[in-house]
Amino acid sequence: MGPDAKIFRELASVASQLRWTVTGLLWGGISYRYVASQESKGTRNDLCQSQPDEVVLTRGLSDIQQDLGECRRCRLHSGRTHIVFGEGAASPRLVFVGEGPGFDEDRQGRPFVGRAGKLLDKIIIALGFRRDQVYICNVVKCRPPNNRTPDADEISACSSYLVQQLEILRPSAICALGACAAQTLTGTTSSISQLRGKVHKWRGTPLVCTYHPAYLLRTPSQKAATWQDLLRIQRILFGGQEGE
Ligand code: SF4
Repeated sequence: MGPDAKIFRELASVASQLRWTVTGLLWGGISYRYVASQESKGTRNDLCQSQPDEVVLTRGLSDIQQDLGECRRCRLHSGRTHIVFGEGAASPRLVFVGEGPGFDEDRQGRPFVGRAGKLLDKIIIALGFRRDQVYICNVVKCRPPNNRTPDADEISACSSYLVQQLEILRPSAICALGACAAQTLTGTTSSISQLRGKVHKWRGTPLVCTYHPAYLLRTPSQKAATWQDLLRIQRILFGGQEGE
């Protein structure tokens, strides 16, 4: 490598660190500790290579959507306006999984389009993506009445669709937003405060659990903790996998 290329690399590294510093400070006025050594570990890491042998997938997302049809497999069908299947990139590096559609999502048939969705958009940008470069979906596809937490039997009825979505998308990382998604994907009943702060695995894929954007709107003091979770995702995607 010539001296010019070396200088360019060093400048790019400094620019990257600066970007994360500024983004962190702007994102809700959060202070945080940036671990520069993680960034300097270098190149992007395609974690798909470390996943188990892939089954040849002959089905796509549109096939799952077709299977869903006008689904009535659980009682949530009765109050819905639209099934909110999910949306985003066909081969995303990152998938966000929330709990279920709210009022705006139910009306529009799209995930995370209300106030919480606006905050998720900021999170996505903070991670260096555009919304159309990630995939966003929920554990249940129909809005629970009054935005209540889905019941266990509703989650059980709907979660096979989520599993199929994730198996087809095969992202490099999954971010579970809130307790319902975190518990569903980890198969535990632990609280979100117990599940966040570390990297789990979902069928071999790194899984980071963090607070739901709707909760952050009510409890902005938890943005600092969420920022740490975002840095965890950033390190998985761009700075080498975290082993915890
Ligand atoms: S929540 Fe899921 S399982 Fe229940 S009716 Fe809607 S799509 Fe079907």
